Amino acid sequence: MAAYPPEPFRIKMVEPIRQISPEAREKALKNAGYNVFSLKAEDIFIDLLTDSGTGAMSHQQWAAMLSGDESYAGARSFYRLQTAVQEIFGFKYFVPAHQGRAAENILSAVLVKPGQFIPSNMHFDTTDANIRARGGRPINLVIDEAFDPANQHPFKGNMDIAKLKKFILKTGPENIPFGMLTITNNAGGGQPVSLENIKAVSDTYHEYNIPFYIDAARYAENAYFIKMREPGFQNFSVKEITRKIFSLVDGMTMSAKKDAIVNIGGLLCLNDESVFQNIKNELILREGFPTYGGLAGRDLDAMAVGLYEGLEEDYLEYRLGQTAYLATGLNNSGIPTIQPPGGHAVYVDAASVLPHIPQGEFPGQALTVELYREGAIRGCEIGSVMFALPDPDTGEMVYPKLELLRLAIPRRTYTQSHMDFVIASFASIKERATLIRGYKFTYAPQLLRHFTAQFEPIK
Ligand SMILES: *Cc1c(COP(=O)(O)O)cnc(C)c1O
Repeated sequence: MAAYPPEPFRIKMVEPIRQISPEAREKALKNAGYNVFSLKAEDIFIDLLTDSGTGAMSHQQWAAMLSGDESYAGARSFYRLQTAVQEIFGFKYFVPAHQGRAAENILSAVLVKPGQFIPSNMHFDTTDANIRARGGRPINLVIDEAFDPANQHPFKGNMDIAKLKKFILKTGPENIPFGMLTITNNAGGGQPVSLENIKAVSDTYHEYNIPFYIDAARYAENAYFIKMREPGFQNFSVKEITRKIFSLVDGMTMSAKKDAIVNIGGLLCLNDESVFQNIKNELILREGFPTYGGLAGRDLDAMAVGLYEGLEEDYLEYRLGQTAYLATGLNNSGIPTIQPPGGHAVYVDAASVLPHIPQGEFPGQALTVELYREGAIRGCEIGSVMFALPDPDTGEMVYPKLELLRLAIPRRTYTQSHMDFVIASFASIKERATLIRGYKFTYAPQLLRHFTAQFEPIK
């Protein structure tokens, strides 16, 4: 079993959690329409639904919040954030946004026209939906290794450059307003992208004059993977690797709720001045004035400090070590997970834990419900509930290649014994796996349906 790295922090404030009885859990599930998004958080013991906005802020971040400047325009907090953004990423222009999807919405509103295509390794669900909401088509061109859960490729988030070139030539660069790359690749298992690949993606987009935007939610974890796994980068600091990455791109969207370790916040950064003008106008309409972007001054300050803390190497070593510990523990209990473990989460291969449940009956969803039933633990389905959609041309149902249950680990929040409890709960589920049944929708909205869908068990 991978060693559990001692936390490079100690605890000075606690938040009680409790485990409700099996009967109470069954009732809670029923009331929630078997959608764990609809559970009350206080009915959950260990919440691994998401690592988004659920981390613990440091004493420095809380202190910074008290110095928040709540001026409507030109607040000191904005300028402190600007310094951090410029020092870390080096873009000419940026606006804050209330979270990642707000930045995606603004970018899509400004750049996407109906019928246009936006390639990426894999778009995250909100990016996918924001592009579709503007009539665009998100396209995923990750390497084939990403779809083989057992494959140990060190950079399974990489874009397939041959596929990308072919796609651009077939589609015509004039129909691609910008190209993207998600680091780390959340929808594909939190898998990193190598610097070599980022450079090749950059060269390819730029060869056809396509602006290149990175979805940077977990850029710091990605940079640490580059340091650990990519030959030639061992002696570079994570900060230096980060600067190299962002020197290759034209802009980025970021959910600061991830690697900036804040409870709310996002960023949209770029170098193109005329696009920036349009972004500011759109931002004022939807989010707020460009120096606060839908956030309080104190949130901007917490983000400015969190951006630096997310890059600290002892923190990143602990963070990726905790994830690896959970994955190894599950694997040793016979629960297959995407290999190698990614940064922020462990992705359980639900299709192989529950091989008797067909994709149309949502094996990832079934395992998610079972995990709550077993240990009051909340995970998140990343499979057909989230991604199976009818093809816009043929109307035929397109299922995702993987049916996953994601266990996302909030930053600096849970300890080794919490991870051990999760591992033990999966071991019990494994013993009765053949008895677990699939689910069907009783309600499903058009876009982002996993958030509000309702289910019932199939008899
Ligand atoms: C979380 C996330 C987003 C969306 O950000 P929100 O802050 O949740 O709106 C976009 N892309 C990736 C890769 C993410 O993980």
